[in-house]
Amino acid sequence: MAQIPFVRDHHFEYGQIEVLAPGIRRLTARNPSAFTYHGTGTYIIGTGTVAVIDPGPDDPTHLDALIRGLEGEHISHILVTHCHLDHSPGARALQVACDAPTYAFGPHGATSEQRDADSEEGVDVDFDPDVRLVHGQHFAVGKMEVECIHTPGHTSNHMCFALPASGDVFSGDHVMAWSTSVIIPPDGNMSDYLDSLRLMLERNDKCYWPTHGPALRTPAAYVEALIAHRHQRINDILKLLAETPMQISQMVDPLYPGLDPRLIGGARLSILASLRYLMANGAIEASDGSPLKRIYQLSV
Ligand SMILES: [Zn+2]
Repeated sequence: MAQIPFVRDHHFEYGQIEVLAPGIRRLTARNPSAFTYHGTGTYIIGTGTVAVIDPGPDDPTHLDALIRGLEGEHISHILVTHCHLDHSPGARALQVACDAPTYAFGPHGATSEQRDADSEEGVDVDFDPDVRLVHGQHFAVGKMEVECIHTPGHTSNHMCFALPASGDVFSGDHVMAWSTSVIIPPDGNMSDYLDSLRLMLERNDKCYWPTHGPALRTPAAYVEALIAHRHQRINDILKLLAETPMQISQMVDPLYPGLDPRLIGGARLSILASLRYLMANGAIEASDGSPLKRIYQLSV
């Protein structure tokens, strides 16, 4: 299996806004989990006039700390990378407090056809931004220029935010240093995800700030490793299906030996995302049944 050079060292304190770089601060919410690592990193960009990226879960303690920490400053934008429950719900209370508009690509796309409460990141279906952003759009936060990068894959509405002047990118859940991204079909789409990774390689950014975990300071090499890893995983699935047709539940063990049981549901959905990618490319076909129960076999 192609190795991903994960970066996991991460020093921070809950409740404390950290200064990470000029014009970049972060407050980490206390919602650690198998999907969120230490918790949601809410970024604050700018000084004096600021934007908040991903206000986080609906957690009054987190939002109080954020609002108190920004006393005397003006929040001009609330930016949302995507509508998972650990990213966008805090936008409502924050908006009540500061009256800034919310900005995102749009509301969440399709809802999952195979909901699995144990593994699926919950979706904030009610979030609909005041302002819809498009790929390539630029706007100003005070004197800071922000660029929008539409990166579907983890979700169809996922958007990263770049600071072209410094080469910083707020990569949301698209590229994270501590873990790969979970792709949950049908809104999550492997083909889109791989395209959105390649899109990042066409850019010349210097540092990624994911919503969860530490910064990525050599992002291009890391993104290449993510792409190689997914292709390897897809090839491993093809090898398994060359031995015998099988269901997703039979593929988890050989593909993810020794997996943390909390992540089995997510692994099944990731396998489903790869299978849908292979079906779309005509490499495999599937018998009838619900997506997780179908028998998948190599196309003949
Ligand atoms: Zn997410």
